[in-house]
Amino acid sequence: MKREYLLYIDGAWCEAAQKKNLGIIDPAEAEVFAEAAYGDREDARRAIAAAERAFSKWSRRLVYERFAVLKRAADLMRERLEKIARLLTREVGKPLAEAKAEVKGAAEVFEWSAEEAKRHYGEWMPTHMREKRLLTFRGPIGVVGAIAPWNFPVILMSRKVAPALAVGCTVVAKPASQTPLATVELFRCLEDAGLPAGVANLVMGPPGEVAEEFLVNPVVRKISFTGSVEVGKELMRRAAPQLKKLSLELGGHCPLIVCPDIGIEEAADRTIAAKFRNMGQVCISPSRCYVPEDKAEEFIAAVSRRAQALRIGPGLDPETQVGPLFDESRLKATEELVADIAQKDGIIVCGGKRPAGEKYRKGYYYEPTVATGITREMLLMQKEPFAPILPVIPYRDLEEAVQEANQTPYGLASYLLTHDLATVFKLAEELEAGVISVNDPSPAAAQVPFGGMKESGLGREGWHSGIEAYTELKYLSIWL
Ligand code: NAP
Repeated sequence: MKREYLLYIDGAWCEAAQKKNLGIIDPAEAEVFAEAAYGDREDARRAIAAAERAFSKWSRRLVYERFAVLKRAADLMRERLEKIARLLTREVGKPLAEAKAEVKGAAEVFEWSAEEAKRHYGEWMPTHMREKRLLTFRGPIGVVGAIAPWNFPVILMSRKVAPALAVGCTVVAKPASQTPLATVELFRCLEDAGLPAGVANLVMGPPGEVAEEFLVNPVVRKISFTGSVEVGKELMRRAAPQLKKLSLELGGHCPLIVCPDIGIEEAADRTIAAKFRNMGQVCISPSRCYVPEDKAEEFIAAVSRRAQALRIGPGLDPETQVGPLFDESRLKATEELVADIAQKDGIIVCGGKRPAGEKYRKGYYYEPTVATGITREMLLMQKEPFAPILPVIPYRDLEEAVQEANQTPYGLASYLLTHDLATVFKLAEELEAGVISVNDPSPAAAQVPFGGMKESGLGREGWHSGIEAYTELKYLSIWL
C-alpha cells in the first residue's frame, strides 16, 4: 500500500522516527484503504523543538504578512475541496456533501481568523496620575499543542491551528489516530501557501506519546483540545503542574425543545436535519427531544416517517443521506444503547438495528432510530450517546421542559423549535448551554463563539474569544 501520508516536521514530510505506520479504515467497507505514518514521543519532541525555533520569526512577522499566507491556504483548500472532501468521507464515513461543507467551513475559519487577528487591538486606559500612561496589548502565547477528534477532523483542527497561527503562535498538531488523511491535505495547503518551516507541524501518533509530550514539555505553553469530557478532565489534571493554558471543547448531551406554537411537520424536518447529521456523531447533536404531550404522538409519527426514508449508504454515493457509523466501537455502543432502552421497557419506534442487504454487509451501518418511553435511568440519558438515536420525551409545560433540559452536567448546545419571539428570549436566558440554536440545525460558523458551559468545556472557539485564546494580555505602565 502506498504511504503518502507522512508526518510534517520543520517544513519536511517524513517517516515516523521508528518507521511505524497505521492502517486507516474506511467505515463503509470496514477495511483498511490507506496507511499513514504513526509517530511517537521522539517525533513530538522534534516537532516541538522546530515550533520553538520558528516562533521568534513568525511571531514578529506583521499580522498582514501572516494574513497573506493564511488567506492563500484558505484559497488552496477551496481549490482542492473535492480531493480533501473525498478523503474525509473515506476516513470518517460521512456523506460527501457533509464532507464538502466541512472543508469549506475550514477554509472560512482560516480566512476569518487571519482577518480577525488584524483587529486585535489594545487599549489606552484613562490614567489616575498625570505622569503615567496606561496601555494594554496582546502577544502570542507561544508554542501550542492542538489535539482534534475524528468526527470533524479538518474543521476542528482548523479552529485551533488558524487562530493560533494568525496571532503569531507556532503549532504542533495531533489528529485522531484513525482520521489523519484530510488533515495531511490541510497541511499541504499550508505548505504550498508559503508557511515557513516549523511554524505548523503535524504529528500522528498515540496520545500516550504525543499528547503526553505536550503535557510535560515546558516549551508547549498551551494545549487546545477537542474531544471527550473524560480526556478533557484528565488533561486539566495533568496540565496543572506547569499551569499550562487550556482550551477544552468537550462533549454534550443536547436537549431539543419543540415549543407548542410550531407546526409538527416543520418541527420534524428540523429535528431530523439536526439529529442525523454525521449519524448523530456530533458534539452538538440533539440527544433528548422534548415535545408537548398533546402533540407527542403526531411528532413521533412524523419523525419516524422521515427517519425511515433517509437513504443509507457509502458516503461517496451521491444518493446517500446517512453514511455508516465511524467504527466498530461506535456500532457496538449504539447497539448497547438500543438494547438498554428495550430492556428498560422503552419503545423502539423505528430503526434499532443494522440495515439488511448485501450493500450493508461489510460497513458499520445502522438504521436511524426513533425511541420513546424514555426514562432517566436509561444509559443514553446518562452519558453522551454520540449515536443515531432520537429519544422523544413528552412534557406538560415549557417550565418542565427547561427543567428537564438542564438536568445534566453538560452545557454545550440547546435547540428551540419555535416562531414565538417571547419564548425564544425567555428560554434562551434559562437554558444552561453555550450555544442556543433556534430553528437552526447547524449553528456553528467561523465568526461565532462556540463552546460549552458546565462540563462541556473551557473557553470558546471562533469569535474574538477564539483569537484571544492564543494570546497573552500585557499591561504597559509608563511613567513619563
Ligand atoms: P477522545 O477519545 O477524547 O479523543 C479526542 C482526541 O484526543 C483524539 O485525537 C485522541 O487521540 C486524543 N486522546 C485520546 N486520549 C487522550 C489522552 N488521554 N490524552 C490526550 N489526548 C487523548 O474523543 P473522541 O471519542 O475521539 O471524540 C468524540 C468526543 O469529542 C465527543 O465527546 C464529542 O462530543 C467531542 N467533541 C466536542 C466538540 C466541541 O466542539 N465541543 C466537537 C467535536 C467532538 P487518538 O485518536 O489517537 O486516540
